[in-house]
Amino acid sequence: MNNYQATLAFAKEQDHLDPLNRFREKFHIPKVSEGKDIVYLCGNSLGLQPKNTQKYIQEELNDWAKLGVEGHTDAKHPWMPYHEFLSNTMAKIVGAKPSEVVMMNTLTTNLHLLMVSFYQPTKTKYKIIIESDAFPSDKYAVESQLDFHGFDKKEGLILWKPREGEELCRFEDIEKIMETQGDEVALILIGTTNYYTGQSFPIKKITELGHKHKCIVGFDLAHGAGNIQPNLHENGPDFAVWCSYKYLNSGPGSLGGLFVHERHANNPKLKRFTGWWGHNKKTRFNMRQEFDVLPGAEGWQLSNPPILSMAAIRASLDIFEEAGFENILAKQKKLTGYLEFLLYDLKNDRISIITPKNPEERGCQLSLAVKNADRSLHDKLTNAGIISDWREPDVIRVAPAPLYNSFEDMYLMVERLKKII
Ligand SMILES: *Cc1c(COP(=O)(O)O)cnc(C)c1O
Repeated sequence: MNNYQATLAFAKEQDHLDPLNRFREKFHIPKVSEGKDIVYLCGNSLGLQPKNTQKYIQEELNDWAKLGVEGHTDAKHPWMPYHEFLSNTMAKIVGAKPSEVVMMNTLTTNLHLLMVSFYQPTKTKYKIIIESDAFPSDKYAVESQLDFHGFDKKEGLILWKPREGEELCRFEDIEKIMETQGDEVALILIGTTNYYTGQSFPIKKITELGHKHKCIVGFDLAHGAGNIQPNLHENGPDFAVWCSYKYLNSGPGSLGGLFVHERHANNPKLKRFTGWWGHNKKTRFNMRQEFDVLPGAEGWQLSNPPILSMAAIRASLDIFEEAGFENILAKQKKLTGYLEFLLYDLKNDRISIITPKNPEERGCQLSLAVKNADRSLHDKLTNAGIISDWREPDVIRVAPAPLYNSFEDMYLMVERLKKII
């Protein structure tokens, strides 16, 4: 779509034509003082609260009050199999089979649990590749795994870096790393979409590259889940992890999710850390039994999960289900495209967009580098009712979430940025 116009009337017209327009109503949009909606562009950090979340959580509180322990089996949504109510929609969103996904724990915990299973280094094949500007938690996690297995953190960690003077990573460069060091690499772990640049990496190509060199390939979808379609089953990585509080709108610190490819579903040779929730459901409560692992992703569960957090996830996933993820992605492309158009239309040479131009290589986030700017620019935007996110040294991240952001939001954001700059 290249017939965008930089006017408020055009933006409002697009909202009017938008088939997902009514979904904004389903969210609590924070207000600026005079009762006007804030322009919230921080769904990449914490998604907004669906209005239904309270109802879904209240339902579980009521059943707990009414039923006590019987709620495990007799609640309207019984607690024992509660995670199963999330699997179908979650599987669609990440392009997996329901048996390949489970919601449990939090992202970094899941990453460690899956590295216990999938990072099995030998003396000669032990290195880990991550992208150079990986999210700190991921970097700390892989460094500690190297350390745990007795390897030198510096020596064992290979960074896939942008070239000198560039912001984005090129596939040819990870290919080159694998050509020279592939025999020593045990694991490739890439965050897609990258939290800083907004770059989405080619999941299938990276997976094939890794597998060609007999490496395990995992993805961190913290910024991907609910934002891009990673097609995990088809694209074939060995595992993936994500959180649900960013684009999946499930509330601060809510549970994360994980994917284990079907080819590993019944592999008894995989080592893992275990707990009773990964045990055969039929005999779990017989107790005093040898561990009998569940097939698929469920077999990685440790504990009975927090139902109140899962209720919030269910509230959010029901919205994704109703809107249809295909439709959400289609709107995302239009909305982000419009924001990009407006930013270019400013013709301000202080602002450049470091996120890839190709909509297939990004999600909804645009990262703007602003020459000679400091944090005060971000603070001014906040004062003007625009919630964005600042990353040192000079980057503003804005992420229009298609479920609740409007074309008018895009117009207002750029209009106010123009005034400030
Ligand atoms: C947000 C984010 C995390 C956060 O991890 P938690 O364990 O949920 O605190 C980790 N990795 C990436 C890439 C993220 O974007």
